Amino acid sequence: MVRPVTAGNAQKAYTCPGCNHPIQPGVPHLVVWQEDAMFGAEAGMRDRRHWHENCWRGRSYRYR
Ligand SMILES: [Zn+2]
Repeated sequence: MVRPVTAGNAQKAYTCPGCNHPIQPGVPHLVVWQEDAMFGAEAGMRDRRHWHENCWRGRSYRYR
C-alpha cells in the first residue's frame, strides 16, 4: 500500500529508508506499508515506512 501524505498531515519527522535522510515535518511524502494477511493489518501498520516521493520512485529494489 502506498499513500501520499500531504503537508498538513505530516506533523512528525521521519527517516526515509531510501536515502537515510530525515523527512521534515510539513513536507509532503509517501507512507508505505504492507497489507499482508500473514502478519495481520496491525503488524503492517507498525512497519509503515515514510519515503520521499523521489526516493520511492527511484528506489532500485522492490519494497517487500
Ligand atoms: Zn529519501
